[in-house]
Order: sequence, then structure tokens, then C-alpha cells
Amino acid sequence: MLFQSRGVFALGLRMCSTHVAKGPDMSEFRKVFSKAKHIVIITGAGVSAESGVPTFRGENEKWRKWQSQDLATPEAFSRTPSRVWEFYHYRRELALNKKPNTAHLAIAECEARLRKQGRSVVVITQCTDDLHRQAGSKHVLKIHGSLMETRCVNCGHVTMNKRSPICAALKGKGSPDPDVADAQIPVDKLPRCEDSDCHGLLRPNVVFFGETLDSHILTKVEKEMEICDLCLVVGTSSIVYPAAMFGPRIASRGVPVAEFNTKTTPKSEYFTYHFQGPCGTTLPTALARHESEVIH
Ligand SMILES: [Zn+2]
Repeated sequence: MLFQSRGVFALGLRMCSTHVAKGPDMSEFRKVFSKAKHIVIITGAGVSAESGVPTFRGENEKWRKWQSQDLATPEAFSRTPSRVWEFYHYRRELALNKKPNTAHLAIAECEARLRKQGRSVVVITQCTDDLHRQAGSKHVLKIHGSLMETRCVNCGHVTMNKRSPICAALKGKGSPDPDVADAQIPVDKLPRCEDSDCHGLLRPNVVFFGETLDSHILTKVEKEMEICDLCLVVGTSSIVYPAAMFGPRIASRGVPVAEFNTKTTPKSEYFTYHFQGPCGTTLPTALARHESEVIH
């Protein structure tokens, strides 16, 4: 569903959007922020990029000669599970060595602070790394799954797994260098289900291109989008669906939406505010304690 629904959603949104982007006005945003009770923060690859986690979606971000759209598909995994596992092994090892940045920390600190005031912050993220949780965020909906979880293709069991390397055969493999040949690891040496009656092949518990999102998570996302009274769209280029329409959908019911990104996006025109720059710089200001907040 990542790309398939694009036409439908884009059409519907143009018809219901009522907001026109205004110039950045942090003091006006801060007034709205100080009154918000249910804040939804939608985050994308830009937040992780500021911690040094690449997305492998751009021309210059290839792994060997491929982009993630070529490898993160059910077809690629069933055809060449060894190559896809090498790619994910590389991404896991990279992500395991990264630290949350000031944007992750500002979001987590804001959630903890507002919780004491009876207010809520939920993160809806497209990022598959673990950096929001590492920063201390408690309420995180990972709509594209997690690099640090595996799912058995046989029994469906999902497990948190931060082992490094994830299996012996992948040790030292996964180099992104275009001259490196595929390791061609036999499928029985790839990560396998630890249930001895199953022993099925494991895959990364991420949503591949062309797959539908987890319906339980989407139901929670829908509920948050219905009750929120402020939304921040952070570090996402708003081109991957369905997440790209979450912000515009919230805006369409008259809720203020603020976009934080290094550049304007195809969805900026739907939002009340656009704050340009690295989110590690803009978010700490936006989410800092407001003078009206009672200190606990
Ligand atoms: Zn299994």
C-alpha cells in the first residue's frame, strides 16, 4: 500500500484541504502548542538522517548498485533472501551504532513533561531504527515496522532482536561497496525461527514496498489522528504513502499542523506552519517548556 494508493489519497486531499501555508511564526506556534492536549508527531527519515542513518532511497544513497526500493520488496526477498538479508544486516549494524539526536531527545522530553500535566504526545514514525525509543519516547507507533525485530515467514512470530551479527553467516557481510559480490549464504544459514518445531526463515519485521501496513497499528494511528489537537510533521519528504497523507488529513479537519523539514515538500501547502532547517535545531525550540506550563 506504500505507493499504490497515492492517486486516490492525493485526489481526496485536494478537495478537502482548507489550509494555506503561512510564513514561519514560532511565537504563534508556541501559543497553539501551549494549549494542545493531544499532540501527534509524525516523523520520517530526516530525523534519523540527522543521527547519520541513511535511507537508501536517493541516487547517492545506494547499497552496492541498489536502492531500498529494489531490495525491500517481497519479490526480492523470495528470490534472493541472502542479498536482502545482507542489506538489512548492514542497516541493522549501522543503526545499532547511532545515537538519538536533539530532535529525538526534544520529543521524548516533551512527552514525559506533558504526561505529568495530563497531556499526551504520540510519535507516529516511518523510521525503522530504534532511536525514538532509545531517546525515551514511550508512545511510538512504528508504521513501517522495525529493523530490530524479526518475523518468521512460516509461523509469523515477531521477536525483538538486537543481536550483532544477527547470525554467524552474516558476520562481516553486507558491505555496501559496489564491487563486493553477493555472499550467497545458503537459506538454512540465514536467520531462522528459534521455535525448534518451526525453524522457518526469518525476515526483517519491516513493511516492504508493495506490502500493506499492519492493520492494528493503522487502527491506533486513525484514533490518534481523530483526537489530536496539534500535529507536527517532522523530517519527512511526504512522498511515501500512506504516511504522506496523515498530516494533510489532520489539517483537513481544521487542526493546526506544523511542518519541520530542511525544505518545503509537496504537502507544505496544506499546513499551517512550515519551519525550515534541521529538525535537531528547530524542534528543541518548538517543544521547549512554555511559560504557561506548571512546573511539577
Ligand atoms: Zn517460526
